[in-house]
Amino acid sequence: DAALYKAKGAGRGRTEVYDQTMSRSSGHDLLRELSAALEAGELVVHYQPIVDLADGRVVGYEALVRWQHPYRGLLLPAAFLPLAQEAGMAVPLGQYVASRVAEFVATSPDRSTWVSVNVSADQLGDGEFATTLLAEISRHRLMAGRIVVELTESSLVASGTRIRHELTQLSAAGVPILLDDFGTGVSPLSYLRELPVAGVKLDMSFTSGIPDDPTAGKVVRALGALARELAMVTIAEGIEHSEQADYLYRNGWRYGQGWLYGGAQPAESIVPTETGAAQ
Ligand code: C2E
Ligand code: MG
Ligand code: MG
Ligand code: MG
Repeated sequence: DAALYKAKGAGRGRTEVYDQTMSRSSGHDLLRELSAALEAGELVVHYQPIVDLADGRVVGYEALVRWQHPYRGLLLPAAFLPLAQEAGMAVPLGQYVASRVAEFVATSPDRSTWVSVNVSADQLGDGEFATTLLAEISRHRLMAGRIVVELTESSLVASGTRIRHELTQLSAAGVPILLDDFGTGVSPLSYLRELPVAGVKLDMSFTSGIPDDPTAGKVVRALGALARELAMVTIAEGIEHSEQADYLYRNGWRYGQGWLYGGAQPAESIVPTETGAAQ
């Protein structure tokens, strides 16, 4: 009943298993196992390269959490993050990811790349995420901008003043905020100006439509123009074909990520070269 989800370019014949048809009882089992997994270090953080679309040079990585389950295989976030949230484990999980990422950045020989960390509204709402992340940054003496926070557009729309306060606190301390899944969350455009948003990540549903679907093309161009008008960094997600990369670059999207450049890989398999390109 587990659907195999093969991440092309994930490297080393790695197969990512995502159980799409999880029954209620197996969900229950997972929930019980999850807190033990966090203790046991079964949760791992993988890194997907983000490249400059002009030349393919790696400029950063997105940290993506996985659960190296003892017998179910490598589980993707969709299989366990909703459970973690339900179980009130979003906060410890976010703290764990933040500390792994800070460690990765601190020990990476390549000082010019940044790492993006995903954060949910749940994690921010508790008021501790900013404090935890900033403590990790200062503990490792990381330069401003080497850790970036991604928040989905829909989380931002649903957020209250507490979350906005945390975002402002992070931004003021030199942690850029990116708006994830941009274009899907129907955020009032005023948000983009009022909140400390440094950049946007184009949702992959738009990337997958280009270059053939004319509507997707128009949306990509309009969202790109809007972001540039607001002086925001532009990153496109889900690039699988070079035609998509070309189209995005020609229409003003500066950075990108996707299987064309590589999937998320364990920290150990990221070997920086002199040019900063991952292998
Ligand atoms: P996201 O932040 O939008 O991450 C991008 C997702 O697209 C990742 O899925 C990535 O593996 C996948 N992807 C990358 N390139 C391609 C491509 O070329 N084609 C296709 N079809 N997919 C691609 P993943 O790892 O399953 O993560 C899903 C979501 O889970 C993420 O979406 C993010 O919102 C959330 N997430 C991941 N890690 C964390 C975390 O540590 N904390 C929190 N709160 N959320 C996380
Ligand atoms: Mg993201
Ligand atoms: Mg996204
Ligand atoms: Mg997404």
